[in-house]
Amino acid sequence: MSAHIIDGKVFAANVREKVAGHVARLKEEHGITPGLAVVLVGEDPASQVYVRSKGKMTVEVGMNSIEHKLEADTSEADLLALIDQLNNDPAIHGILVQLPLPDHLDSDLVINSINPAKDVDGFHISNVGLLGTGQKSMVPCTPLGCLMMLRDHLGSLSGLNAVVVGRSNIVGKPMAQLLLGDSCTVTIAHSRTKDIEAVCKQADILVAAVGRPEMITGDWVKPGATVIDVGINRIPHPEKEGKSKLVGDVEFASAAAVAGAITPVPGGVGPMTIACLLANTVTACCRANDLAEPEGLTA
Ligand code: NDP
Repeated sequence: MSAHIIDGKVFAANVREKVAGHVARLKEEHGITPGLAVVLVGEDPASQVYVRSKGKMTVEVGMNSIEHKLEADTSEADLLALIDQLNNDPAIHGILVQLPLPDHLDSDLVINSINPAKDVDGFHISNVGLLGTGQKSMVPCTPLGCLMMLRDHLGSLSGLNAVVVGRSNIVGKPMAQLLLGDSCTVTIAHSRTKDIEAVCKQADILVAAVGRPEMITGDWVKPGATVIDVGINRIPHPEKEGKSKLVGDVEFASAAAVAGAITPVPGGVGPMTIACLLANTVTACCRANDLAEPEGLTA
């Protein structure tokens, strides 16, 4: 068997196009332009790249992008004051504080100071609780993107066995909640799981969010399963000395030989994360203005 490749680039472009359509309607019919504020503290190179591409894509879909770049030694009080200002600014519908924050800042405190209605990353404790209790919330972008791709590929997920490998707050746990919300039978595997290979092999849907290059091989995959590889790992290039390459948490070739469908790395889940950030911002804007939410862009 050779798996269907779920093309995250094409999927993400479709999501962005839908978002752009909603943004255009919000402008034309209501005179509202959604605004996304991104706060970056310090000069972490990877974070700078993410923030740049978030800003670029925000503008491309017609929204306002506001970037706040703060010095690495910014005090907690100053950061909280900025968030308070953004919370109270009616032109800002989404606030994202780029993680990781420098060590002297308490990430939980900072994230929980964001107005939950503007928490487009879905990390605020209120949004975590709302998602866990099956209520309307802001949903973390990466798992939301995975859910969209799964629904698109499989239709109903009801009754399917889903295994999520990884239990982080930003991917594994919210992913499991979303799958449970779609009536999957969900298992969360992690570093202490016994016979993890056998657990994975039960999965109709296998989501890998581990951070270990190519840990999951084809013999862990149930024939015909849908495999979503969230992992992004940079490893030395096997053929080009001094170069590196990106791989997922799944060994693509062996898994693709067994799976029914699989997301590649790069070009799978990755592009969906920013697309879902834009989707969350337009959703937050609609909710803030008591307008109908865009269909197909939320959980
Ligand atoms: P974390 O490091 O926060 O969590 C990793 C999880 O994997 C933990 O729950 C850990 O278990 C589990 N784990 C580690 N080693 C093993 C093992 N040998 N067997 C089973 N489970 C194991 O990572 P994140 O959730 O933040 O990210 C996971 C991956 O997804 C990374 O590669 C990251 O780069 C990528 N990522 C990609 C995104 C995208 O946009 N595509 C966005 C976010 C992340 P335990 O809890 O027991 O330690």
